[in-house]
Amino acid sequence: MKIQSFEFNLFGVNTYIIFDTNTCEAAIVDPGMTTERECARIDSYIESNGLHVKYLINTHMHIDHLFGDEYIAKKYGTGISASTDDSILSERIAEQARMFHLRTDMPDSLNVDMPLHDGDRLMLGAEPIDVLAVPGHSPGSIALYCPESKFVVTGDALFKNSIGRTDLPGGSYEQLISSITKRLLTLPPDTTVYPGHGPSTTIESELRHNPFL
Ligand SMILES: [Zn+2]
Repeated sequence: MKIQSFEFNLFGVNTYIIFDTNTCEAAIVDPGMTTERECARIDSYIESNGLHVKYLINTHMHIDHLFGDEYIAKKYGTGISASTDDSILSERIAEQARMFHLRTDMPDSLNVDMPLHDGDRLMLGAEPIDVLAVPGHSPGSIALYCPESKFVVTGDALFKNSIGRTDLPGGSYEQLISSITKRLLTLPPDTTVYPGHGPSTTIESELRHNPFL
């Protein structure tokens, strides 16, 4: 499995394309594109690598992680895969936009077509992506773990030397710490961590250096 990162929009969200190098089946995670130019970067990567986009997955439903959902879902016919525990967010897009003083032509509500749950396993070619529930930053936050390729996409739960904020609607500090320590820090130490913002890291490095843990 290969993973490619892109940084999009004024929040600096990391959008990831995960794909199986044998079958070229791909998942787009947290499409944060807000401009035609950002959309073109995703499209040209997909085209030049001959990828077949099978999934659009949201790690959680904060607006900065889903600006490009409609574009991807429509263009690649994927529908949206995410936890429905974030419905308080996905049903209040306009409210989220107002909170961050954003103008957006997005609909007020995004429908999750394929609800994801803890323990679900998605396949790209012969390789699995395991869904880990990591609530705390938001109620429906999930991480995407690729055990064979030894990486995990953590959304806004865990960052390099930091953790997600818990002051937004539905957030819980206790829940977040519990999710990180029980579900993420227990992964093999050499697992690469790809967070929703900022640079990648490893589980080992966060165990040693993260001042919030
Ligand atoms: Zn977030």
